[in-house]
Amino acid sequence: MDQGYTAPCPLHKSCGGCQLQHLPYPEQLRRKMAREIALLGRFGHVEPILGMADPTHYRNKVCAAFGLDGKRRIVSGIYQPGSHRIVPVDTCLIEDEIADRIIVDIRHMLRDFKIQVFDERSGRGFLRHVLVRRGFQSGEVMVVLVAASPVFPTQKPFVKKLLEKHPEITTVVLNINDRFTPVVLGEREKLLHGPGTIEDTLCAHRFRISPRSFYQVNPVQTEVLYGTAVSFAALTGAETVLDAYCGIGTIGITASGGAKQVIGVELNRAAVKDAIANAKLNGLKNCWFTAGDAGEYMLGCAREGIRPDVVFLDPPRAGSSEAFLRALLKSAPARAVYVSCDPGTLARDLDVLTAGGYQVRKIQPVDMFPFTEHVETVVLLTRPC
Ligand code: SAH
Repeated sequence: MDQGYTAPCPLHKSCGGCQLQHLPYPEQLRRKMAREIALLGRFGHVEPILGMADPTHYRNKVCAAFGLDGKRRIVSGIYQPGSHRIVPVDTCLIEDEIADRIIVDIRHMLRDFKIQVFDERSGRGFLRHVLVRRGFQSGEVMVVLVAASPVFPTQKPFVKKLLEKHPEITTVVLNINDRFTPVVLGEREKLLHGPGTIEDTLCAHRFRISPRSFYQVNPVQTEVLYGTAVSFAALTGAETVLDAYCGIGTIGITASGGAKQVIGVELNRAAVKDAIANAKLNGLKNCWFTAGDAGEYMLGCAREGIRPDVVFLDPPRAGSSEAFLRALLKSAPARAVYVSCDPGTLARDLDVLTAGGYQVRKIQPVDMFPFTEHVETVVLLTRPC
């Protein structure tokens, strides 16, 4: 650790969200590079990690847990790792400051509107989490109140007051989660104000985002990430592109101007609906999106002889499924661009792809999550003609 450097956040130890906060930013980047080289160096040269000019307050999505402390006072913040104790958080080094202010104001409003927080021990109460998402480019703000029940008697005056305090809020959604699982959002939603989605702009394209869809949390670095991925694809306008694990279609839509056509596949139906709406929003006629498991879809393509020229794959931390990798090897696109948020599972999957004949051409780490231990990587794979 650097002599004389102190972690900027007083909650550093109790919160646990920023594992590298005790290090100055350039040192954090060096650590991440060392990890990338240790895990991926055997596949080829690892380019220097692309960091941020200002690595603070980058998160456009903030999710606060609401509950009671030992003295039965209302608290909001984040769960201490591995426990159900909420560490009270009012401001955070990496979260959007407007989102943080909205969450604190909601907490202060609860008593006046007779809103009880959910008590995990008794299973009683109402409000469990508040999720705020802000479009950094559009300024649109979505507030999702996650509650244990749909019965919200003071809903109208509460929302009215919240909008008075924060006119930047463009939509408010009640999400009902009555299950005892770590998953924050439930399946049911009730619209309380506005369209139920927000819009944002990334890489010169507009994107609609609904509460349960995945959207990259660091929009500044997402442009760097997608820019890298699309340049690796080296599209000429003639390619059929598959955007696997496409979320709301951001990568495919960003790449679509250079491709003949883009097909996106994604498991989450809400996200696919957003992706279809997003193609329309951008006036694109060469993008199609479908709901399903990426591996099964890819196998279906291989069976029917549909061969994409380029495949983008951006799976969750667990990495790609074996079925997907097998199908990828079978359909043998000329280029595959792997966008990964976990270099460990990435290395495992690269072993399969290189054993199947692909060569790793470029490895570019991007710092999407400053102060945390997480690191994103873009890898270009090609196969010899
Ligand atoms: N490419 C998008 C989303 C990446 S996150 C973006 O940059 O925003 C990974 C996505 O994979 C999530 O949207 C998740 O819902 C989806 N997913 C998870 N498992 C999947 C599977 N088996 N098949 C298809 N999509 C899956």
